[in-house]
This record gives sequence, C-alpha cells and structure tokens, in this order.
Amino acid sequence: MIAPFVSPSTRYEVTTQPPSDGSTRARTGLLTLAHGTVETPQFMPVGTNAAVKALSPDDLKDTGASIILANTYHLYLRPGHERIARLGGLHAFMDWDRPILTDSGGFQVVSLGDLRVVDEDGVTFRSHLDGSIHRFTPEHATAVQEALGADIAVAFDQPVYPSSPRDIVADATARTHRWAERSLAAHRRTDQAMFGIVQGGLDPELRAESTRFVAGLPFDGICIGGLAGDETPAQRDAALDVAVPLLADDPRPRYLMGLGSPADLLEAVHRGIDLFDSVLPARVARNGQLWVPGDRAEGARLNLRNRAFLDDPQPVQEDCPCLLCRRFSRAYLAHLFRAKELLAYRLATCHNLTFTLDLMVRIRASIQAGTFPAEMSALRSRAGRISGGEAAEQSA
Ligand SMILES: [Zn+2]
Repeated sequence: MIAPFVSPSTRYEVTTQPPSDGSTRARTGLLTLAHGTVETPQFMPVGTNAAVKALSPDDLKDTGASIILANTYHLYLRPGHERIARLGGLHAFMDWDRPILTDSGGFQVVSLGDLRVVDEDGVTFRSHLDGSIHRFTPEHATAVQEALGADIAVAFDQPVYPSSPRDIVADATARTHRWAERSLAAHRRTDQAMFGIVQGGLDPELRAESTRFVAGLPFDGICIGGLAGDETPAQRDAALDVAVPLLADDPRPRYLMGLGSPADLLEAVHRGIDLFDSVLPARVARNGQLWVPGDRAEGARLNLRNRAFLDDPQPVQEDCPCLLCRRFSRAYLAHLFRAKELLAYRLATCHNLTFTLDLMVRIRASIQAGTFPAEMSALRSRAGRISGGEAAEQSA
C-alpha cells in the first residue's frame, strides 16, 4: 500500500493497486484538484484554443470528459494570458467548471523548427500566427500558466523526437532537468498543481536517469514526455518499462503526454499510466473517421466519406450514448460530410470522444474488478487496431 499523495493543490489516492503477481501495472485512482475529482486512468480531450474544436462545454460533458487540456503556447499568443486573467481566468473564460491542465508550451515552441532558437536560459521563437518574436523561459512559461489558472501547470521542458541522436537527447534532457528546478522555483500559486516532465528519449539509461531526477523534485505529478512521437509501439513500451517501475513506490499520478489511439491507451494503462491527452480522436473525427468497437481493420473505424454510408440507416454505433448515435443515422452524417455542413464536425467529434472516454470507463471497471489482465484481449478487441498514425495497422 502507498499512502495517498497530498499537497496544497493536489490529492492523489491509488484506489486499486496493481496485483502482486506482476501480471499488470494497471491501477485506478482518484485525483482531486481545485475544480473537482478525476478518476484515473483518464483521457483528457484537447482544447487547443480554449475550446475542443466544434464542441460546446455541454457537448464535452456529454462525452464524459472530466478534465481537459489547453495549450499554453496558443493561448499566450492569442488572445493572450493577461487578457484571459483579466476576464477571470481560463475556467470562467471558456465556461468549463471541471479541471483543466495546461501544457508548458515547450512542445509547441520546440516544434517550430527553424522558427526557434534554444539556449540555456530559454527559447526564442517566432509566432506561427504573425511572425512576431517571443521568448519563453521556465519562469515565463510558469507565469503564463499561473495567469491562465488551470488546475495543473506543467514545467517548461525541451522535448526532442524519440529517434534523435543520443547526444541531442542527453543535452535536451539535462536542460529539461535544470528547467524543471527553475519552473518549480518560479511557481507561486498554491491552488495550482505543477507536474514535472521526464525526458530521456528511447535510451534506457537516459530515460532512467531522467525519471529518477524528476521524481526527486517536489512536483505534484510526473509527466512522461518525448514519446507518442515517431517511435514504434515496441519502443514506447520499452521506454515505459524503464520509467514506470522506477515510480512503483511513488504516490503521484503518471501522465503520458500526447498518446490518444484507443489501442495505445490500453497498452499504456497496462504499463502503469494514469493520464493521457491527444488531439487524435477529435482530429480523425473531423476527417470523417468514426471509431467503433472491433478488431478487424475495417471494423475499428468507419470512413463516413465513403459513398456506401449514404444509404445506411443504422447509427454509427448501436450501443453508443453519444449525441450522434442517439439521434442520427450513418446516412445523415455521411450526407453532412459531403455537404461540408458544420454539424458533421460536432457530431463526429462527440462520437469519437465518447468512444475513447467509454473505453477508459471499461478499463477502470475491469481494473477495479481485478479482471484487467484476463480481459485485455476483449478490451483490445473493443479498442480496435487503431494506431497513432491512423492509416497504419499495428501488429497485434
Ligand atoms: Zn456515438
């Protein structure tokens, strides 16, 4: 048994411990933050610009979302963190009264490629909106997140692609550690949690060293960064098999950043991850790809742009409680996509998020019942073989 983690901003209690036979590291927990309690394992839909694209807050609650992510980089540039603070903070601004996590902006800033320069103190970058020049340091990224006022802020880091050469990964990981200490030192709000980010790429030594370092700091939760990129599922699993066992006796929640395909979520829960976020379910929904239970390639997703659906009176998924499946047919949605009606994006997004969050409900129930290892293959089948690349099929 691990005693619950308690800090001024955060309480995390593991409610179902992994079994002692080592058959899985999956666990359930309750994460209590300033705006409510989140059951884990949990998936966070992404509201890049203080909105999950095409959805209202009521739609979002209807999908089962209990916590969402908003992007610091985007909100800093537009409409500006100071403006959001003047308007009462992010929760009031977007009328979302449940927990929010803001990322640090590190991923977006570092992903700008030629538009940014990293130095020891921070990152200078050009806005993708208007080319104006800006600078993020650990202190500034922390101040921006305090102004936004999410329940969870994240330390500023320097992510690199998983497949980057070792010296580049080592350099970025060491800098991420120095920036983690500076982010913590700059953080003032006691009603806001701060999570630290483990880097280290795919190199087992660097990943282990980073896990030990970040876990040694007084963060409220541990993010595992630098994955859900260009690595293979086997490489990701290997990195998690290095990091998570080192956190076995750590009472804080573990968050794998950027992972969002149903099959990948299931495997990562099995390896001991508690929190996830991704734009994937919503992004593929807007492209007309609807996720449904099934382990055949054609069974795990329906492409509503396909003509065949124009005459199909069935709901997208028979047992789905979402706005789309409760009231409309595949034929109607297929028509809306062909006519580029805006309602198509809303309905499809409601469905894919409901599907993803419902899978997490099933996973939690299975862990609580103590049957998760035995039910893995049934859950895999429900998740479908949907990979992060969406077009690519994962090996079973
Ligand atoms: Zn549905």
